[in-house]
Amino acid sequence: MGNVILTGDRPTGKLHLGHFVGSLENRVKLQADPNSEMFIMIADQQALTDNAKNPEKVLASVKEVALDYLAVGLDPSKSTIFIQSQIPQLPELTVYYLNLVTLARLERNPTVKSEIKEKEFGQSIPSGFLVYPVSQAADITAFKATHVPVGDDQQPMIEQAREIVRDFNRIYDTETLVEPDVMLPEKGRGRLVGIDGKGKMSKSLNNGIYLSDSAEEIEKKVMKMYTDPNHIRIEDPGQVEGNVVFTYLDIFDSDKEKVAELKEHYQRGGLGDMTIKRYLNEVLQDYLAPIRARREEFAKDPEYVMNMLKEGSEKAERVAAATLAEVKAAMGINYF
Ligand code: ATP
Ligand code: MG
Repeated sequence: MGNVILTGDRPTGKLHLGHFVGSLENRVKLQADPNSEMFIMIADQQALTDNAKNPEKVLASVKEVALDYLAVGLDPSKSTIFIQSQIPQLPELTVYYLNLVTLARLERNPTVKSEIKEKEFGQSIPSGFLVYPVSQAADITAFKATHVPVGDDQQPMIEQAREIVRDFNRIYDTETLVEPDVMLPEKGRGRLVGIDGKGKMSKSLNNGIYLSDSAEEIEKKVMKMYTDPNHIRIEDPGQVEGNVVFTYLDIFDSDKEKVAELKEHYQRGGLGDMTIKRYLNEVLQDYLAPIRARREEFAKDPEYVMNMLKEGSEKAERVAAATLAEVKAAMGINYF
């Protein structure tokens, strides 16, 4: 049996280059592997756990994320792309799993802890938010995922899922559930810095380049990119470490020799920020133009996109229903 991969995104906006480097490009690679079957979930239910008061943002983003997927080359004939809320077996599994997890365990989850602080919930933590790691365990196990590609921040979720699998299989004396393995990003791919150089590229920090950005928007963002604040005159020697232009060139320019040369020249002095920015702009334009063009084509056919999501969700539901039936049989709650 091959690998079963579960992955996805919370629809809370359009996807940016951070998502591309952190996960999308890897999914496109995995999709070509004949030994892997991939389920890609648009996690609208999870997005609602901290967006209950503005559901419009989540609902509108479902379509945007689907367009971003198609634009980067995720192919519904190879991977199953589906919407979480359309699979009723997922919350059903969640309910059973919730009995296996203590409140103290949920409150200890380090990622949830820091998100609670970040989101300034104070004393008003939505209970759906606190338990989202359990719902994530349902998503993973419903498809019997063997592998879950995640960033560092999501490791505690996989650990929680593994605990639930082990507890369930032990308590009900079964081998129904499959313990998932994490798949961490390749070196240098886990975390793309934002154009301001301050932290990771993030929607909420407003420091992102989006897959859907126009050529003009990309150029504007490149021109205000953080470089080396001490590189004032062209002839000054400049720093390439922490210089966002060079960070992006390392990732997006396939001409490694040229990048090495530019770095050397910049460090020696005599290479201006405008020159390297114009060059990066060309590189990014070449990189993003075909993605944007595909996105625009798919955007012209919303019926195709919705139908693709419907078919993907129907397939996902069949798989989840089969697992749920096994789970209920293992628990002995298959009365009729
Ligand atoms: P928000 O500002 O709302 O937190 P975001 O832009 O950080 O949004 P998320 O929805 O939090 O995006 O990201 C979901 C997942 O996408 C993360 O768990 C991570 O795996 C990946 N990701 C997000 N930003 C980056 C980034 N800059 N580099 C690499 N991966 C990223
Ligand atoms: Mg984030």
